Amino acid sequence: MSDIAKELGIAEGTVRTILKEAEFETRAKTPIEKVFSDAGITPASIAAKLSELQNAKEVKRVSWEGKFTDERADPDNTVQFRATEATAKILGLFPKEDTAAVAQLFVRLPDAVLTKGHPQTCTCAECCSAWESITVTPGDGSLAPGK
Ligand SMILES: [Zn+2]
Repeated sequence: MSDIAKELGIAEGTVRTILKEAEFETRAKTPIEKVFSDAGITPASIAAKLSELQNAKEVKRVSWEGKFTDERADPDNTVQFRATEATAKILGLFPKEDTAAVAQLFVRLPDAVLTKGHPQTCTCAECCSAWESITVTPGDGSLAPGK
């Protein structure tokens, strides 16, 4: 340890601390899934809970003179919707919204000489202005100067 300290030009105590922390890190490394499964939370338990919550009920009570005199259970639509939404998200049932936007960006990237004598990748004010006035023909993606 003193060799390491001498080599690095730092105090031996510091080396000891660093090594101790590194050792702790190695020992403390438990997969997050195991931490949760040890606590009884597993994909199966989450699925069971979400299934239960999709039928969640909301109990409404009526009280009179400090005592509940009546109660009624109605569907808790907020909880049911959130459970359904979370389940759909986990199952990947939502349409991929980003894909179209990314595809459009690719189509809109300039790959042509916009101003004579300027390179294809030029982003000067003149080329930017030319790019903004260009129209893209749907289908073949060809470029044409704007009107
Ligand atoms: Zn330019």
